[in-house]
Amino acid sequence: MNLAGIDLLAKAPYAEGDVFLGGRWLQAADGRTYPVYDPATGDLIRDVSAAGEEDARAAIEAAESAAAGWRATPPRRRSEILHDTFELMREHTDALARLIVLENGKAYRDAAAEVGYAAEFFRWFAEEAVRIDSSFGDAPAGGYRHVVRRHPVGVTAFVTPWNFPAAMATRKIAPALAAGCPVLLKPAPETPLTALAVAALLTEAGLPEGLLNVLPTDRAAEVGSAWLGDERVRKFSFTGSTATGRLLLEQAAANVVNVTMELGGNAPFVVCADADIDAAVRGAMDAKMRGGGEVCIAANRFYVHADVAAEFTEKFGAAMVAVRAGSGLAEGVTLGPMINQPAVDKIRDLVADALARGARIAAQGEVPDGPGHFHPATVLVDVPDDARILHEEVFGPVAPLTTFTDEDEMLARANATVHGLASYVYSRDVGRALRLAERLEAGMVGVNRGLLSDPAAPFGGVKQSGLGREGGREGIEAFLETQYIALDWPL
Ligand code: ADP
Repeated sequence: MNLAGIDLLAKAPYAEGDVFLGGRWLQAADGRTYPVYDPATGDLIRDVSAAGEEDARAAIEAAESAAAGWRATPPRRRSEILHDTFELMREHTDALARLIVLENGKAYRDAAAEVGYAAEFFRWFAEEAVRIDSSFGDAPAGGYRHVVRRHPVGVTAFVTPWNFPAAMATRKIAPALAAGCPVLLKPAPETPLTALAVAALLTEAGLPEGLLNVLPTDRAAEVGSAWLGDERVRKFSFTGSTATGRLLLEQAAANVVNVTMELGGNAPFVVCADADIDAAVRGAMDAKMRGGGEVCIAANRFYVHADVAAEFTEKFGAAMVAVRAGSGLAEGVTLGPMINQPAVDKIRDLVADALARGARIAAQGEVPDGPGHFHPATVLVDVPDDARILHEEVFGPVAPLTTFTDEDEMLARANATVHGLASYVYSRDVGRALRLAERLEAGMVGVNRGLLSDPAAPFGGVKQSGLGREGGREGIEAFLETQYIALDWPL
């Protein structure tokens, strides 16, 4: 397939069908399709093939057949294919970003940033592919040697969400391929097209057939169960809600499948009395508003020191009111639509609950009239501790503010959640900021930064926010098994 001149927004390159299996573009085995909609208008984008159990099994066959060849492929060659994919993604940034806007709705600026972030996983893991450590040493008792080798774990299966249609796929695909594992991917039903475009680019970069199989579908449970029920699948990596993750963990137990789970968050954003307030407002806008707040590491609740609460609320409120909502492709728009109407309804419910318990709207932006699933950028103040919005993932552009005076009391409130993905601290005193960062129960902390995702750093959560890490040195570990060989080698 030649990508030159292909418009990734049009039906090509997957005109024959959208199930990418064994290097071919196929219809679902039973011919089923399902509709994918544009969240900015509610219009149908097009009907997409809906893979089922038979396709899921065929994908395992394809992956299994390709496994030995890929495992034996020199790491340098694996690395080159990943690096070429990185280059291709950069070259096609505009088309990919438009595709993300079309099916996810986020503002073009955020979509283009996502393409850059997603592409970086290919570069980072191209670099890691040739640095897989092994060791050789003496047994302490003497008389024999320890040989410790790292093997690819085997066929890997992924289920990804709709909020980062490119990056959630590449964050898993790149390390798996780098480690020598074939991949099965079920993208979110709402956003299958970007994952298919990534598959097209990997193919263009020379990835042999069967090593990446992408199965779009609205029959998630059918595909998920077929994969987790097959003992040839040795690794399962999921990004999505804690509820679905829990269910899939149970299914993974049957075959004792190695799992990585990136689940929900409830990130606190702490503004200390000595913070640079302008920087904190910029960081809050990044941490709250990137991707319209539909981000698992989005700042979910704000703890602002009482001494600076008035200034922070006024400046942050002004920034939120200035947010321009509209179709993600329209000029100057920084807030696109939410993914669908239930997402908007959930945000409205959380706001209504907070208002009923005594919160007030301190600032609110505008949304366009007409179709599309929009919610305005909103700042809530006087939010009581029992408001649901402080305990549930908002996944939208609403910022609930609370105040604090005592650090210990604030930390107790910030940590009173089953989640522990990201958190944010703003303070000019780095000693204070690090003390707070270390006491916040979170897998990641942004100190004087509202953006923390980086392919070169380990992403993941503690408590019920997940298991394992993606990206960084740790990212490839998830796809490697350790084998120890006791070698009797008398001198
Ligand atoms: P949301 O629907 O809010 O995106 P989910 O965690 O349910 O959150 O979805 C994340 C991903 O998990 C999507 O790709 C979805 O299709 C998939 N998914 C949902 N339920 C199941 C299931 N029972 N088995 C396998 N995948 C599932």
